[in-house]
Amino acid sequence: MKVTAVAGSDQVAMVYIADFGRDRAVEFVESIQQPLPRDKKWVLMVSTLFGCPVKCRMCDAGGSYHGKLSSDEIFAQIDYLVQKRFPDGIIPVEKFKIQFARMGEPSFNSSVLEVLAELPNRYHAAGLIPSLSTIAPAGVNLFYERLIEIKEQLYPNGHFQFQFSLHTTDVSLRDELIPVKKWSFKEMAEYGNRFYHPGDRKITLNFALAKGMPVDPGILLEYFDPARYLVKITPLNPTCQAAKYGLSSYLDPYGPHCDHDIARLLADQGYEVIVAVGDVEENQIGSNCGQYLLKYLEEGMPVLNGYTYELQAIPTYEMRIGQ
Ligand code: SF4
Repeated sequence: MKVTAVAGSDQVAMVYIADFGRDRAVEFVESIQQPLPRDKKWVLMVSTLFGCPVKCRMCDAGGSYHGKLSSDEIFAQIDYLVQKRFPDGIIPVEKFKIQFARMGEPSFNSSVLEVLAELPNRYHAAGLIPSLSTIAPAGVNLFYERLIEIKEQLYPNGHFQFQFSLHTTDVSLRDELIPVKKWSFKEMAEYGNRFYHPGDRKITLNFALAKGMPVDPGILLEYFDPARYLVKITPLNPTCQAAKYGLSSYLDPYGPHCDHDIARLLADQGYEVIVAVGDVEENQIGSNCGQYLLKYLEEGMPVLNGYTYELQAIPTYEMRIGQ
């Protein structure tokens, strides 16, 4: 893996571009959550596919698909960041989150399971919390069954975060946003109910919410018990794809952080609701969910409030895969 370029700020987030040869490049990210220092919370976001066949309408990481990363190629991204910050492999961070969410739907790649199985032995990191977000595609049941086993064996007592990316409760609109065959809400709930055990973190139902996308608390309640599931509402981040499809965010990251009707309605139904607006500088860096610098550079179109940081070349950093 050759890390060729970087964009961002050490105080917020850094996006790294890595070349794996044969025209295969990915991005990976590290961020902190101000005002927390790095030793309180450090978040890594790595890629699991070269491209993504799902092509969600809001996501710049979707598009031409060139295969899966091996477990060594996924670890190369994590190792690079760990070696940079904690060269002895001891990571004294209270919440050390690794999200498999930069490029690629993780359930399409069984190497993600190999990485999850090896992670606890690879580093000394008592605060390790892997995080797996999925659109819940159909046809990958074996991945999900093995995921339950790994979570039970290696990540008990709240050391694993699992998220379904819903984005709306309107099934037709969800199909437009995420144009592949997916589990129904009923199938998600059946799986989630088996996945969740007392002591686990609640399963997150994420809505990267665009204006005009309904979130019906009645529909959620029909399937997802507030004792096992929480709702997280995030902005729809500024991407080329969102601009192309005329999608704009329900949450305004620049507006006043006030009560939101949808959050209140969900809370009234008993859901724990997280409204996570985040740091607007992450949008400018291009490190947020759904953003992808290489897509932005390829499109060459301006994106309002996004991708304003310049890429800096990294002269010659090469990391041998599997070393
Ligand atoms: S949001 Fe996830 S599943 Fe959808 S295109 Fe982007 S990487 Fe793929």
